Amino acid sequence: MTPAGTSTLIENAYLAPVAGPEIASGYILVTGDRIAALGPMAEAPTAPGAARIDGSGCLATPGLVNTHHHLYQWASQGLAQDATLFEWLVALYRVWAAMDAEVVEGAATAGLAHLALSGCTTSSDHHYLFPKGRGDLFAAEIEAARAVGLRFHPARGSMDRGRSQGGLPPDEVVERLDEILDATAEAVDAHHDPSFSSKLRVAVAPCSPFSVSAELMTQAAELARSKGVRLHTHLAETLDEEELCLRQTGMRPVAYMEKLGWLGSDVWVAHAVHLSDSDIGVFAATGTGSAHCPSSNGRLGAGIARVSDMLRRGANVGLGVDGSASAELTGLAGEMRQALLFQRARYGPTALTARQALELATLGGARNLGRERELGTLEPGKLADIALWRTDGAFAAAVDDPVCALVFATRQPPLARLLVGGETVVEDDELRTVPHDAAGAAGVRAHRRLIRVAGEQGVAVSAEVHP
Ligand SMILES: [Zn+2]
Repeated sequence: MTPAGTSTLIENAYLAPVAGPEIASGYILVTGDRIAALGPMAEAPTAPGAARIDGSGCLATPGLVNTHHHLYQWASQGLAQDATLFEWLVALYRVWAAMDAEVVEGAATAGLAHLALSGCTTSSDHHYLFPKGRGDLFAAEIEAARAVGLRFHPARGSMDRGRSQGGLPPDEVVERLDEILDATAEAVDAHHDPSFSSKLRVAVAPCSPFSVSAELMTQAAELARSKGVRLHTHLAETLDEEELCLRQTGMRPVAYMEKLGWLGSDVWVAHAVHLSDSDIGVFAATGTGSAHCPSSNGRLGAGIARVSDMLRRGANVGLGVDGSASAELTGLAGEMRQALLFQRARYGPTALTARQALELATLGGARNLGRERELGTLEPGKLADIALWRTDGAFAAAVDDPVCALVFATRQPPLARLLVGGETVVEDDELRTVPHDAAGAAGVRAHRRLIRVAGEQGVAVSAEVHP
């Protein structure tokens, strides 16, 4: 943690705090790991002894918050390229069964480094596959997050409904209900830090209605609530899922989850693409959040979530890059653009503004993770998680509005600085916490190791679909 007496003064930046008015030339004073003050340069404190960051030509935003990911998938990118969700899952479950702690740590290091370079300061992760005898996979990704220096919200996922029980995954990749509940409780007890400055909070996350029994969903919710941690799962991602849910339970996905006690202000779900008007009303009324993952939804042809309808009716939405096997090399800054374009392509040019897209990526994400008191806006008293984007470059400078230059651009502006709790993680597009090139190389090694072991186990690995 940043020593309490350490101060940093960012000067002359364009501030987009998300809460409150934007400031064309402003300062941010960071003391310890928090924002002490911000405002126009004319009111900047002298702050003797503070380290100074010249923010001239830069846009300061809250650090971006990623609320859905599967970091291990960095090792299995580019496979089953033209598949639907169910085809893709069936093709990949057996590849993922070959992962071990070494694969997870390498993949998570590369994935988190890649996120940091796209302005992300807090990431969740949903890890739901635990092949036996392959080491402590949950601890491996936590170690990667500590090294890269991001705030981390890993969710202990699980699957207990294999094919013989009417589920989608093969029986050999699922766990028993009692093992799952014990391991999940252990993960919370060993790692969860509920403090204000926490860089590590654990959530409970059975994978999806089509890979998890009703008993596991119910008991996982009871476990999470007894321990005061949040709940996460996949929901309403595709029409295939809706049809399967109707056939097996007689209910649509949101009604099924409501019956299992899975809606509430301590729950956020990934995707929520196929919501009815009444589903959106239920999300808003119960405070259930969702992680919009537009690139993944596009890649798998899942559909377009009704984000603008959800926002208008008061349902919280954050962004997620989703696992890299369904959103190859996707950065979080680019998801603001993807979200904006999806909504506008479907609902017209006023469906989502650049400022709303920025809010999804920051405050919306913080709310999904239950951290809106600490994160998601630039305000005195909040944690100093700040992205400083260089918007005065030769090309970006042709756009006067720096928020537009950030959100509308295909190629994000250079990241001049990324602070997590006041500490530098990225400077001038280079990682400062782990060796820049080594982070990418760790992901390549993880990929090669996973494909080699999967091949040794007789699994065909291909860009084509081989269910
Ligand atoms: Zn996912």
